[in-house]
Amino acid sequence: MKYRTFLIKYAEIAIKGKNRYVFEDALMHRMRLALKHVDGDFSVTKTQGRMYVDCLSDCDRDEVTSALRKVFGINAICPVVKIANEGFDKLRESVVRYVDEEYPDKRHTFKVFAKRADKSFPVCSTDMNSELGAAILEAYPEMKVDVHNPEIELHVEVRESIYIYSKQIEGPGGMPVGTNGKAMLLLSGGIDSPVAGYMIAKRGVKIDAVYFHAPPYTSERAKQKVIDLARQISGYTGTICLHVINFTDIQLAIYEKCPHEELTIIMRRYMMRIAEKIAVQNDCLGLVTGESIGQVASQTMQSLAVTNEVCSLPVFRPLIGFDKQEIIEISGRIGTFETSILPYEDCCTIFVAKHPVTKPKLSVIEKSEERLADCIDELVATALETEEVINVI
Ligand code: ATP
Ligand code: MG
Repeated sequence: MKYRTFLIKYAEIAIKGKNRYVFEDALMHRMRLALKHVDGDFSVTKTQGRMYVDCLSDCDRDEVTSALRKVFGINAICPVVKIANEGFDKLRESVVRYVDEEYPDKRHTFKVFAKRADKSFPVCSTDMNSELGAAILEAYPEMKVDVHNPEIELHVEVRESIYIYSKQIEGPGGMPVGTNGKAMLLLSGGIDSPVAGYMIAKRGVKIDAVYFHAPPYTSERAKQKVIDLARQISGYTGTICLHVINFTDIQLAIYEKCPHEELTIIMRRYMMRIAEKIAVQNDCLGLVTGESIGQVASQTMQSLAVTNEVCSLPVFRPLIGFDKQEIIEISGRIGTFETSILPYEDCCTIFVAKHPVTKPKLSVIEKSEERLADCIDELVATALETEEVINVI
């Protein structure tokens, strides 16, 4: 018996009413996009409140499931055996064969969950449960029924075809990307920001990204690392439009004119200002960063408040309450960790003070920024005009 069909389970509670269609259409769209990266022809359909992926040609089942495991909105993927609806005797035969092929070692407990959605089928759900259970016990006496805590939950759904399944592969959960607007991720080469992008996209938010580099102080390899990270998270988020901003002259100006212990905070404020401009131009409804309270000097409550002050768009910080170890764990799971720890320089680490302020005062920082008044507008304008845009797929 060959798996050619996958039943897709998604959380239905959150999506009652007319939002349900928006959610379901977005989910199917995202699944089709994800399957474009897998060899083979697929059809994604929705019938009677059930969503299925059918493989129309030969395909690698593991590749299909790993592509679908990156689609937010999916709670579980069930490989299903689909057979023609040809009466109960044929069904009983198929179920017995299914159990044989799926569970060569028969020492398992099980329970049958039959569902008769096609009411013209002659056997009702309750009778199917007991008759199919009896047929399995007769064929494999070493198996046992356990109605409370079965090892195998054997589902049989009678519809226009009959679907048999007993295994489910966990999906990523969340909501389909695109159902919750778009945000601009400040993406550095570190561990945190790719995870922040993943987490915000998991709630259905499409993301674009902005990366600040400082050539020649930061290298091409550092930039390539950020492109690679964007590509890794695009597996979950879909295409990311990455804006690469040359930040060198702004950093040099800050370095030259502002107190060194305030460099990082002033630099972060300019990053946020520029990111917000690009965000607005690209219909983003918020900014996203990988900040977490207290992780470094620029992420104390006082520093976050002073940084936040320059933005009118909301700034989302999905990692705000996470410990580094928790962030590392997620980055390992989503596949960005190995790239993030490559030792290339970041513009934040190059112009860094020995003793950065940890409790900056807004009025003091604003005063320091006045020293940039004669050049900063032009530098920001040039940085925006010379941006490089890379579509990362
Ligand atoms: P990360 O691991 O994300 O680099 P970090 O712990 O190194 O974080 P910071 O360097 O203080 O923290 O940066 C905080 C946040 O600011 C980052 O998570 C990211 O969102 C943004 N950021 C920092 N540097 C850059 C950069 N060069 N380009 C774009 N965004 C940046
Ligand atoms: Mg960083």
